[in-house]
Amino acid sequence: MAIERVGVVGAGQMGNGIAHVLAVAGYEVLLTDVSEEAMANAIKLIDRNIDRQVGRGLISEADKAEAMKRIGTTPKLADLGQTDLVIEAATEREMIKQAIFEDLLPHLKPDTILTSNTSSISITRLASRTDRPEKFLGFHFMNPVPVMQLVELIRGIATDEPTFRACEEVVQRLGKTAATAEDFPAFIVNRILMPMINEAVYALYEGVGNVMSIDTSLKLGANHPMGPLELADFIGLDTCLAIMNVLHEGLADTKYRPCPLLTKYVEAGWLGRKTQRGFYDYRGDVPVPTR
Ligand code: NAD
Repeated sequence: MAIERVGVVGAGQMGNGIAHVLAVAGYEVLLTDVSEEAMANAIKLIDRNIDRQVGRGLISEADKAEAMKRIGTTPKLADLGQTDLVIEAATEREMIKQAIFEDLLPHLKPDTILTSNTSSISITRLASRTDRPEKFLGFHFMNPVPVMQLVELIRGIATDEPTFRACEEVVQRLGKTAATAEDFPAFIVNRILMPMINEAVYALYEGVGNVMSIDTSLKLGANHPMGPLELADFIGLDTCLAIMNVLHEGLADTKYRPCPLLTKYVEAGWLGRKTQRGFYDYRGDVPVPTR
């Protein structure tokens, strides 16, 4: 299974990073989103982020120009039908992802591999609603994609070996490292990371500390490069809440109960960096804690 053309669905924080690393590694990339604005922003952001890599001497100006030429955008999902691999990186809601795969299926080549960058949703369930569960895999990049080394590869119950190996080769060509996870709620990274973030929100909710003291404690006390609340803002509070809900429902254990304060921030539309406000307010020169 030679993969040369890759379709990316969703041009948000993850989709633009995924398109970026694929293009730099030599793949032809077709990016789509329901929002024209998201696509236009993604191209600008990719350009700026590759410029940074040029500035650091990681790639040349000529390679940058080639990489940018390899990225196309389209508002039509059907245009992704001729790609060899599709990486779905749309909003973390099962209904949305399911609808995307349903709309895409009639246009796909029979051997196109379908993958999802979902942080938590069952790969087996997403796969079962397609015509090719054996060619379906979880392809979970970390944020920010151009910087983070890991890609979690998650086999659904029906995923076959050639599909897994083809995706493993893509990870290698990207210069990243794959870790294999079984298909249980939130896989490995978020199974461990998200309850810690949720616990930090509980500590804030219960008044154990404020935003600064909680983040400073974990940075200086546990040597984490970012505090858990800063990290939650970076990931997106809607995504954090969606992952906690998947853990709570999927494992039926009250220890995964999402903190009501996390729900409140999401209800307010304070989703973190992407909306300029979350546990910190990013509208000024420096981030200001909101509690
Ligand atoms: P985001 O909100 O930045 O972007 C989501 C994009 O999907 C938006 O541009 C939206 O317009 C688009 N979209 C929504 N419905 C669509 C549809 N029907 N067709 C095409 N595009 C559609 O979210 P994100 O942080 O990029 O997350 C995307 C996926 O990646 C989620 O599944 C998330 O769980 C996963 N993920 C996120 C992170 C993270 O740190 N944010 C890390 C790993 C994986």
